[in-house]
Amino acid sequence: MPADKAGIEYAAELLKSGEVVGIPTETVYGLGANAFDEQAVRKIFKAKGRPADNPLIVHVSSFDEISPLVREIPELAKKCAELFSPGPLTMIMPKSDRIPMVTSGGLDTVGIRIPYDKTARAVISACGFPIAAPSANLSGSPSPTTAQHVFMDMNGRIPLILDGGGCGVGVESTVISFEGEDGIRLLRPGFISVEDLKEVTDNILIDKGVLEMLGADARVSSPGMKYKHYAPKAEITILQGDSLAFNAYCSANSDKFDTLMAFDDSDCEGLDCKVLLLGSSGEEQAKRLFDTLRELDKIGAKRVFARCPELSGVGLAVYNRLLRAAAFMVIRL
Ligand code: AMP
Ligand code: MG
Repeated sequence: MPADKAGIEYAAELLKSGEVVGIPTETVYGLGANAFDEQAVRKIFKAKGRPADNPLIVHVSSFDEISPLVREIPELAKKCAELFSPGPLTMIMPKSDRIPMVTSGGLDTVGIRIPYDKTARAVISACGFPIAAPSANLSGSPSPTTAQHVFMDMNGRIPLILDGGGCGVGVESTVISFEGEDGIRLLRPGFISVEDLKEVTDNILIDKGVLEMLGADARVSSPGMKYKHYAPKAEITILQGDSLAFNAYCSANSDKFDTLMAFDDSDCEGLDCKVLLLGSSGEEQAKRLFDTLRELDKIGAKRVFARCPELSGVGLAVYNRLLRAAAFMVIRL
């Protein structure tokens, strides 16, 4: 249904009766359910095929709605909320008893986000309870950035998808936790960048799971990072270097790939193969990444060379997702 008044009312009705609904947000589409209702939350895990120890983010529509959900709100969290909420930032805090263990994936903490998207906010307000929502893809697939993506993965599994058009940001929220008086740990990079967070504190630690491969049995601070994710059928190799180096390496190794994932035309000059372009800026790349990963499957790509995003700004988020899609295969040129 379109994300208009009638759609939002119907979504709220379904959510109140314990159902799961596909909802647009500014990051990616979410699969929402009443965060307080264990049975409803279980349906999310079932629809996605998501491991039970992978926690869900709880979405509220204003800062005041956070305090009943947590045991304390760190001072730094208040500062982050002032600067970046509503927006694509998830803050991990010690959870109160109001949040069932099913929702937090068995953890004693809960990730909370106040989305900026007007449909997401309208749905939460109409429900009057917080909405637990992970990305609305099948576990392991690229996150959905259009209602059509959600339909591809969830058709027959959920009763409703609200169609709010393409997502403005395109990658999932930045996830942070707090350490000591003034420390922030980056668990998952997103649109709110390390550079942005430095406005709040200089003491920012990038969690190991952001850039390194973690074993399936690893005890990690951000459980989602240990699972295989975003993976198309094609084998992707990331080539890290500038446009000239990328072009030269591809020319010299033209028998080793059938498709290129590049930024713009200049990366692929003189190369005769299928090309998918992400755009030159980190923001464009974030917006197009997941659709492009789905496109690789559609065009039957088998071996892909992908140009490596910048490791700063939102580029770090693009790199973090692409690394997982490429099973951590990186060649430094
Ligand atoms: P998704 O919404 O599918 O992107 O998944 C949410 C991700 O947020 C999880 O996979 C975790 O990596 C992270 N997350 C959510 N809640 C917590 C938490 N309490 N502690 C640590 N990480 C969390
Ligand atoms: Mg996800």
